[in-house]
Amino acid sequence: MMTKRIQVKNFIDGVWAAPEGSETLEVTNPATQEVMGSVRLSGKGDVDRAALAAQAASRAWRSTPPAERVQFLFRLKDLLERDLEDLSRTITMECGKTLDESRGEIRRAIENVEVACGIPILMQGRISEDIAPGIDEIMIRQPVGVAAVIGPFNFPGMIPFWFMPYALACGNTYLIKPSEKVPLTMQKIMRLIEAAGFPKGVVNLVNGAKETVDAILDHPAIRAISFVGSTAVAKHVYSRATANGKRAQCQGGAKNPIVVMPDADWETAVKIIADSAFGCAGQRCLAASLAITVGEAQATFTEAICDAATSRVVGNGLEPGVQMGPVITHASKDRIERLIGTGQAEGADILVDGRAPRIPGCEKGSFVRPTVLRGVPPEGELARTELFGPVLGLMHVDTLDQALELVNQGRYGNMACIFTGSGQAARKFRYGADAGNVGVNIGVAAPMSFFPFSGWKESFFGDLHGQAWDAVDFFTQKKVVIERWPKAWSRKF
Ligand code: NAD
Repeated sequence: MMTKRIQVKNFIDGVWAAPEGSETLEVTNPATQEVMGSVRLSGKGDVDRAALAAQAASRAWRSTPPAERVQFLFRLKDLLERDLEDLSRTITMECGKTLDESRGEIRRAIENVEVACGIPILMQGRISEDIAPGIDEIMIRQPVGVAAVIGPFNFPGMIPFWFMPYALACGNTYLIKPSEKVPLTMQKIMRLIEAAGFPKGVVNLVNGAKETVDAILDHPAIRAISFVGSTAVAKHVYSRATANGKRAQCQGGAKNPIVVMPDADWETAVKIIADSAFGCAGQRCLAASLAITVGEAQATFTEAICDAATSRVVGNGLEPGVQMGPVITHASKDRIERLIGTGQAEGADILVDGRAPRIPGCEKGSFVRPTVLRGVPPEGELARTELFGPVLGLMHVDTLDQALELVNQGRYGNMACIFTGSGQAARKFRYGADAGNVGVNIGVAAPMSFFPFSGWKESFFGDLHGQAWDAVDFFTQKKVVIERWPKAWSRKF
């Protein structure tokens, strides 16, 4: 089915306009390779206009009472609910995941709006009376000013919402820079932000890639940066933003291990681990990519996970019954397939080989089918590299201590999970795993919107995470006031 090609626009100071950069990229449906639209990459001038518009809108927005600011978010929530199906279809078409996965993504975006609507309580300050006789001390939270989010391709509808609703509710004004690979979802969300009636300049959209990002990082009016993407770019963004005196929270890549104990509930564990490894075609920063079996878990788990990989229904995510879509681009497919080959060359056995599949009806799509490799050497490239594809590497050890050692030797710390029937094993794992998001009999330990999204090590640069009270701390600066009102200075009443 041919759709009308969309020319992606920026939204700056309440006006839709084409970006002014010279380079243009195509936006392609990864399941069909149909060109859905094009995006021109914004240059410095676009970023400058957006940042100055946000700065100009800042004073009035900041002094709008929090209880009034959240009314705009309540309206946005209703509009997101109304258009959930349409937004989900757009995500599936530009990003490749299944419709159910896209619906889940928008649902989580909405949940973050809901939590941010609690800002009148969440951003309250503190007061201590009588820190000395007749002297009181007050802590007030005030907005930081202009903030910006730079997003990755894999959750175009959700990830900006880990930050934006909190930033706005706290009284900041905002810039959104979506991934240039998937800019269409934010075109639609921005229409809803416009319809929700936010004053002009409060939320701005700039499309683009590296040059646009660097202009955001260097712009003096922008005070806070939220980034989500690969570790290499997260490091670049963190160092450049902080060198320019900005606050920064930068979420990076991952390589998530799951430990399978012999006393796990098999049926549930295998289903959940397969969903974690192969759901969203493995393109989740919380996807399981290594499964470490302990003791007798090995034989049963290996057979069952191979069955789950082989039987997964792969195709166009818009089709009913499809359980896994394509990866984002042919370049990504080629990279994943090359790394599967590297794993084999390093000594792993390919038990289920998803390379070069033929997907009926989607012959041109960038598909890799679920793949399972056994005996992945811990020091090898396959064990240490984020594939961002539907590939599960298996490792085996004799004890939970050895499994924990493997978990903790990785450079990333986004997620670690254990499947077990033992409270003691679970407690030991929870206590000892060096990861910011831990699952016990859970395959994708994604924090709800009322908890911070807590990556560690090379999965995160900064200290305050996205979502919930961490976001409130990030988007406010604390002011402490010490007050004395001597009786002698006051008029008598
Ligand atoms: P990416 O790093 O290639 O791109 C992310 C953003 O950075 C995009 O907006 C892009 O335009 C910009 N960018 C790319 N190269 C740049 C450069 N050299 N300089 C400045 N900006 C640049 O990431 P991606 O491929 O879009 O997303 C996948 C990655 O994101 C994976 O590594 C995944 O693990 C990670 N991710 C992490 C989380 C998390 O919460 N930790 C969540 C989702 C995705």
